[in-house]
Amino acid sequence: MTGSLKRGAAWALRRSGVLAARERLRRGRIGIILMYHRVNDEADPFFPALGVDAFESQLDYLRSTYRVETLDGLLGWLREGSPGPPRVALTIDDGYADTHAVVLPRLKSRRLPATLFLATDPPENGRLLWLDRLRLLLKHTPAEILDLPEHGLGPWRLASTGQRLDSLGRIAGRLKRAGPAEVEDVVGALWQRLDGDAISSGPSPLSWTQIRELQNGGVAIGGHTHRHYVLSQLGREAAREEIATSLALIRERLGCEPSGFAYPNGEEGDYGAETIDVLRELGVSWACCTLTGFATPEAPPHEIPRIYTSMDTASLFACRVAGLTRLRASDGAARVA
Ligand SMILES: [Zn+2]
Repeated sequence: MTGSLKRGAAWALRRSGVLAARERLRRGRIGIILMYHRVNDEADPFFPALGVDAFESQLDYLRSTYRVETLDGLLGWLREGSPGPPRVALTIDDGYADTHAVVLPRLKSRRLPATLFLATDPPENGRLLWLDRLRLLLKHTPAEILDLPEHGLGPWRLASTGQRLDSLGRIAGRLKRAGPAEVEDVVGALWQRLDGDAISSGPSPLSWTQIRELQNGGVAIGGHTHRHYVLSQLGREAAREEIATSLALIRERLGCEPSGFAYPNGEEGDYGAETIDVLRELGVSWACCTLTGFATPEAPPHEIPRIYTSMDTASLFACRVAGLTRLRASDGAARVA
């Protein structure tokens, strides 16, 4: 089906009410776990985000069609509940300032619960995650050439936004497959070479005070490591340290047990059997990945799939969560796990 035909069919299904009726009549145990990152109207290609109107319309559709509950509650129902219509849980990854400024008031006004999978280095040390430092650098650097031969990068021109995004994509792709020493080496060297200290604007990380407000507003806080390195690139001990630090900080700063865990990046190969062993040792009984799919009673508890939320229309979103469109592994702009 072509894009416009698909959009038309999706629109008709949603507007006629057929889709919502079908969802309410379904019987089984299916969990629709949605994954969000940034939500704002900045339309910044360096920091991709879902628009605020789209977010609101998704929340309203979900609330009118499904039972939206805590992720813990949904997983309990999958394990031992009675068959019924699919249920929904909302998750937000990383911990950006707009999770507090934009997402929280919209959840609260609709009385919807959610889970934030929080990387704890930004609130603890006031510094952005390494990938966000890279985004900031490539967006604002006054340099017009990126050349870092000692790390095999460049020379690449940075004269246009397109060239800057292209360089960002190449560096990020390479560093997602690198260990923490190389990540910090390369980001540090780029920061120096591209004059990062000259950059005065940029997003600020969430503070612990804001995270407590999220918690008080019905957002459960789960682990997402401390510094957001891809765990399969770390040795067992380093991976354990990254996970344990984030869990300990959540306990200490928020006075609660972490609500599960989500793997940084979270695709196949970004975590393995050893990572799952470490989670079990640390008492983490379930974990979400970014593999695309619906959660079912049969899904392994440490490999819970989720659904991306960057559909370009409300109708396609409705079809996607109902399982009527093909689930793609990646949805372009909002793919920022
Ligand atoms: Zn993440």
